[in-house]
Amino acid sequence: MDRRRFLGVGAGLTAGLAGLGTVAGRAAAEPPRIRRYVKLGTTDLEVSDISFGSSRSSDPDLVRHAADRGVTYFDTAESYRGGRAEEAIGEALSGRRDRFVIASKHKAWSGETRDSMMTALEGSLRRLRTDWVDIYFNHAVNDLRRLQNPEWREFTDRAVRDGKIRYRGVSGHGSNLGECLDHALDHDLADVLLAAYNFAEDASFFERMRARFHFVAPQTGLSRVLRRARAKGVGVLAMKTLMGARLNDMRPFETGGATFAQAAFRWVLSGANVDGVVISMTDIAAIDEYVAASGGDRLSADELGLLGRYAEHQGPRYCRPGCGACVESCPAGVEIAEVLRTRMYDVDYRDPLLARTDYAALGSGGGAACLSCDGTPCLGACPAGIPIAGFTRDAALRLGRAVPALA
Ligand code: SF4
Ligand code: SF4
Repeated sequence: MDRRRFLGVGAGLTAGLAGLGTVAGRAAAEPPRIRRYVKLGTTDLEVSDISFGSSRSSDPDLVRHAADRGVTYFDTAESYRGGRAEEAIGEALSGRRDRFVIASKHKAWSGETRDSMMTALEGSLRRLRTDWVDIYFNHAVNDLRRLQNPEWREFTDRAVRDGKIRYRGVSGHGSNLGECLDHALDHDLADVLLAAYNFAEDASFFERMRARFHFVAPQTGLSRVLRRARAKGVGVLAMKTLMGARLNDMRPFETGGATFAQAAFRWVLSGANVDGVVISMTDIAAIDEYVAASGGDRLSADELGLLGRYAEHQGPRYCRPGCGACVESCPAGVEIAEVLRTRMYDVDYRDPLLARTDYAALGSGGGAACLSCDGTPCLGACPAGIPIAGFTRDAALRLGRAVPALA
């Protein structure tokens, strides 16, 4: 157990809850604000410990609200909302660019040229209304060949020289995430990592809660890779920290101080593996709830219990980024973890646009083959107990249609 993560309600906890109405009296009327800023590895970037993810929003007013609450890091990608997420950040932060850290992303393919990558970057800069991004990520890596493409390094070297990128990064949430991140660290391809990671990826969480669980948690090894990154001076940001983000499932049990989301952020932030959290901010109330977790570094017994209750409920439904234990089980080449991720976007996030866009991008790796398979090959392949065939068939039925036009 990390030194900072002992049980008990401390000063950091009560401070972080200001403005939510969960702490009686003096703090109730104050709007929540970011209370801690963290340095990303050996870069000179200092960012809010809770930061703005834009994969599910394209509203400049949400960006402005987060900035007003003290958020200083805004994370986007050329693909989010068909480019509109970048436009919203560009519009909201225009005229005060210097005060914020902005990151964007491009999926650089294994055969892509440096010129094509530069064209993609310049499109992002236009939409963001800026001359530079602070971090530019090779987005959603899950295949080593994408990182082994020498054009990516040549492109980032040139973009850094030209002042269009300050730092380079690698981001991912796939089943092969650990191997990809190790490769990036081995070859000095990243100043910052952005990785899917939550309390249920942390072996110490299950050790702490051992008596409670009746299933075996797959060990993804991500804790080791992220610790390695930090030891090397690489900044580490975590995304997908809410393990499926079924926040409403936990509302009736949020009686002991923090909400589930706040407790989940605190677990990650109080450990040794991560510098900061990037979270999709989709409405004003969610921004205030999330920002109120800033600076908290302790969990009470009730809050730890909340995480345990959630993991018990969601464990046999949530596919762990970086796991890949079922990869060899499907003779039809279905990318099981990727299909389950898109299903999560639809079922748990209730974001059909994101789900169907990402599902369509899987092409032949999607779940169409599952509709004519009896499910025998992948039966029991998931140590967490996910009923793979049922979920992949469900994904194929839900998502295997044309992507709807953007509203
Ligand atoms: S379905 Fe289960 S075994 Fe397969 S990647 Fe997800 S958690 Fe791991
Ligand atoms: S149901 Fe069949 S096709 Fe689908 S993942 Fe399982 S083994 Fe592969």
